[in-house]
Amino acid sequence: MSATIPKTIPKTMKAVVYRGVNDLQVEEVPVPRIGPSEVLVRVGACGVCPTDIKKIHFGTQPPPRIYGHETAGVIVRVGARVRGWTVGDRVGLHHHVPCLDCHFCRHRAFAQCETYKRTGITAGFEPAGGGYAEYVRVMDFCLPGMVRIPAKNSLEEGAMLEPVNTVLKGIRSLPLLKGDTVWVAGAGPIGLLFIGMLSESGFRVVATDLMESRRRLARRWGAWRALDGADPNLVDALRGLTRGRGLDAAVVCVPVDAVVAQAQAALRGGGSTLLFAHTLRGKTAPVDLGAVCVDEKSLMGSYSSDFTLQKEVARWVFARRLDVRRLITHRFPLEETAAAVALAARPTEDSLKIVVEVGGRSERL
Ligand SMILES: [Zn+2]
Ligand SMILES: [Zn+2]
Repeated sequence: MSATIPKTIPKTMKAVVYRGVNDLQVEEVPVPRIGPSEVLVRVGACGVCPTDIKKIHFGTQPPPRIYGHETAGVIVRVGARVRGWTVGDRVGLHHHVPCLDCHFCRHRAFAQCETYKRTGITAGFEPAGGGYAEYVRVMDFCLPGMVRIPAKNSLEEGAMLEPVNTVLKGIRSLPLLKGDTVWVAGAGPIGLLFIGMLSESGFRVVATDLMESRRRLARRWGAWRALDGADPNLVDALRGLTRGRGLDAAVVCVPVDAVVAQAQAALRGGGSTLLFAHTLRGKTAPVDLGAVCVDEKSLMGSYSSDFTLQKEVARWVFARRLDVRRLITHRFPLEETAAAVALAARPTEDSLKIVVEVGGRSERL
């Protein structure tokens, strides 16, 4: 079904403006103007991401800003110098795109590139993603991050490209062989994506979560075993599943320091622990440095997306090898973004991925 395109673009629009810690206001703001090398996208869907929640709850960036970066929509205006895109194209967006040319990019540390660190999608104010608004401006350096959404796929699926990319990037950073056993700690939206992609790629996944409902889901997403994360003998149980050898890798999708220590203890020599949810700088925890040196247990991190995986991610999502539609449990209209963020921050038994719908039923657009 093709999305309808308004004949005229209004002068002002609704947006959810971050005004201070835990303060999101629905406001009328100007529709962004675009330059000759930029495009304007009417937002259809925007996923609520834990990193937005962090910024809103901890005030890590000064207001005012318009957040939301898992965005998909329809192009409504194209700058005169832009080639390859037309009004009406349905697109998934990436708000960070690396230069591919600097010292960091040559080392494939794309998330550390200065260009990458700039946010190139905005609905106004200091660029911050802008997906919680009716229109966003995509700046020139973010155009390579725009991905066409096939007609058979929904805008919501397009909005999931960015989180799926971050997960595939994390998986690729692990030195794994087919059949390896990987622990995924936390079976929330990100944990389930890890479980789905790892198991589909031929790895044996052990999932843990505190919620029984999420352990059930983990099995449905392909986990070989799903254990209670609160089990006091968890490390022994994990090692037992590999006949005492230890795990090949652990992916920590919960910001819990004790889990990092458990992961290191449950690894085999030469295994890897990947931190995926410890996104607040300045947090410290004791580490057995001998285990890192003598047992060669790597402690590593992965953050944000990898531009070079974009095509592969699109295939995973759009061919539904990974059916991200199963992840979305709640949809909120733009005006209720604050409630969407609140629910994402305090997940319930039946909540997973939460999407803000802009301008109507985005899952059908
Ligand atoms: Zn995100
Ligand atoms: Zn760079």
